[in-house]
Amino acid sequence: MFVSTRGRTPPVDLITALKSGLAPDGGLYMPAVLDTMEPELLRASPRRSLADTAARVLRALLKSDLPCALDAAVQAAFDFPIPLVPLTDRIHVLELFHGPSLAFKDVGARFLAGALMAARPDDRPQTVLTATSGDTGGAVAHAFFGLQGVRVVILFPDGQVSPVQRRQFTTLGGNVQAVGVAGSFDDCQQLVKGAFADTDLCRRIGLTSANSINVGRLLPQVVYYIHAVAQLPSDTQEIVLSVPSGNFGNLTAGLLAKRMGLPVTRFVAATNANDVVPEYLRSGRLRPRPSVRTVSNAMDVGDPSNLERILALYDGDLRRIRRDLSGRAFTDEQTMACIADTAERHGYVLDPHSAVGLLGLQAELAECGAAVGVTLATAHPAKFPDVVRRAIGRTVDVPARLACLEGRPSQAGRMEPSLDALRALLDSA
Ligand SMILES: *Cc1c(COP(=O)(O)O)cnc(C)c1O
Repeated sequence: MFVSTRGRTPPVDLITALKSGLAPDGGLYMPAVLDTMEPELLRASPRRSLADTAARVLRALLKSDLPCALDAAVQAAFDFPIPLVPLTDRIHVLELFHGPSLAFKDVGARFLAGALMAARPDDRPQTVLTATSGDTGGAVAHAFFGLQGVRVVILFPDGQVSPVQRRQFTTLGGNVQAVGVAGSFDDCQQLVKGAFADTDLCRRIGLTSANSINVGRLLPQVVYYIHAVAQLPSDTQEIVLSVPSGNFGNLTAGLLAKRMGLPVTRFVAATNANDVVPEYLRSGRLRPRPSVRTVSNAMDVGDPSNLERILALYDGDLRRIRRDLSGRAFTDEQTMACIADTAERHGYVLDPHSAVGLLGLQAELAECGAAVGVTLATAHPAKFPDVVRRAIGRTVDVPARLACLEGRPSQAGRMEPSLDALRALLDSA
């Protein structure tokens, strides 16, 4: 069962949580109980595939609330490798970018799509509405593309998304409709919120959100933390895990894994100049503010929605949060230097988001003697060719699944940032 972070509505089952996105009291859904996992799950086994691990972890998370949908969703979400690559003897990189859109969001989006499809009780229409600043659009578009009876509408700020990112969700066509909004990402999010507040509209078109407020994106992300730690040497004493963060869904999943018994000593919340969370950890003051643009644009979030989940997980107790979590923020200059330095020293090319993660890990390891560190690589460097070229003077090879989109025509529509315009669009067939 799933409960709201605000605790003012009754618990719901998985499918209700997936379909409604936000809880009726405005809170976010969280698993009602987090049991400790069997220790055996936390150890590597050469006989267990990633999909097997995923099925067992998700069964532990969902327990009896186990729709027949689960196996299908697991197969859909974990059909690409997630390797742990050593950079030095103390630093490992968990590569989460081997899915279709080359970013970690593929895991959550594909699980959500698989679960929603398998759980559909009838043939009523379903509309998935999502705002994207870049990476969510590609992951959601690829996850839902071609699925029967589901219409996907992706709102993006026109002119503010990189060409590679844009191609990933505007060239598929079919049941995936991309709409450039003449406004900012905040305008897009406002429109999505407005649509969800219209209960009549929601019922009429079966509206669901695929943004990271949806707990269906969160749950499968717990899996790869367990998968990563299981691959470290079994005598590893202290483990530090760094997560490049924007909306903090990824980090929330890591903290859920720790609550379920994953032996991670500390997490690092690594951010760019959008440092609301590091500042909160330092000063105790929570000051959401408009985002500023950086080279790691998927983390340009000024009011991270999943912080509400983290606070709920720790009953709002900052002392306890600080025990598990360090906050560290970095400038674009530091990010660029890290990409250059890592390429030169280790022959490994990071994307700008993953570079922020590595900076966070290096800073944390410098302060605690014996620890071994894992940092999450959240996107493939080929997704950000301009930034990478500026950092190291060259680009990296573009994987085939990205290259094949080049030259395909964009099918994006355009829209003014008005709720009436969005209603009209959603009601049109
Ligand atoms: C979305 C995204 C992030 C931030 O993840 P959150 O779960 O929102 O904190 C980091 N890196 C990349 C490449 C992303 O696409």
